[in-house]
Amino acid sequence: MTTDSIEAAERLSAVRDAMDRAARLTGRTADDVTLIAISKTQDANAIRPLIAAGQRVYGENRVQEAQAKWPALREEHADIALHLVGQLQSNKAEDAVALFDVIHSLDRPSLLAALAKAMDKAGRRIPCYVQVNIGGEAQKGGCPIAETPALIAVARAADIPLLGLMCVPPADVEPAPYFALLAKMAREEGLPRLSMGMSGDFETAIMLGATDIRVGTALFGERPAPARPVPASGRGMLRNSRAA
Ligand SMILES: *Cc1c(COP(=O)(O)O)cnc(C)c1O
Repeated sequence: MTTDSIEAAERLSAVRDAMDRAARLTGRTADDVTLIAISKTQDANAIRPLIAAGQRVYGENRVQEAQAKWPALREEHADIALHLVGQLQSNKAEDAVALFDVIHSLDRPSLLAALAKAMDKAGRRIPCYVQVNIGGEAQKGGCPIAETPALIAVARAADIPLLGLMCVPPADVEPAPYFALLAKMAREEGLPRLSMGMSGDFETAIMLGATDIRVGTALFGERPAPARPVPASGRGMLRNSRAA
């Protein structure tokens, strides 16, 4: 084994041990919780050691990035499941339905309509989670809490298979109340699954009923910083300092 594959196996086993400890506190085991390895920004060479260690369920947050990486990796391993966990634009619905096995980010009526149409066209129903904007944050994706029951009703009427609810709680605050609220909403809607919990809080999420956790950093290490265009204000400052 290479050092990469030893490290991947060790990280995976540490996460699975932590999952198991949290699950046992509520009478479950790690096998009752699906670990989705979030491989966004990781290239194929970073992903292969984790596949070799036995991890088969992966998540990406961008359709285009996933299209570039996963067809080749899936040719090497036919039993991989791929989840979309990031915001989805309606004009990418067809591509998403063609590539992903599960979509976690159904959050508005216009996207629902686009997905229903894409699924009809492809002759394939993709199971979805309704993403809830559980902290009511303006900048975040997710359906407002008050509008979630109506969105669920429309999804059911459109014959979109719903697995459950998904959320990303606000950063830097105690996530437990948000996880508990999502669990309550799912119970009230008769939805069986909860996609919640990331590297920093998946044990808490499991104790509050998560069936699917989305873990990136704890499996791959810190993500490389995304390349971002220089913000306009930054350019302005540069211009000013040059002029000075
Ligand atoms: C990146 C991401 C994750 C994983 O985050 P980590 O903190 O690296 O575990 C989970 N869910 C979503 C929606 C993400 O975008």
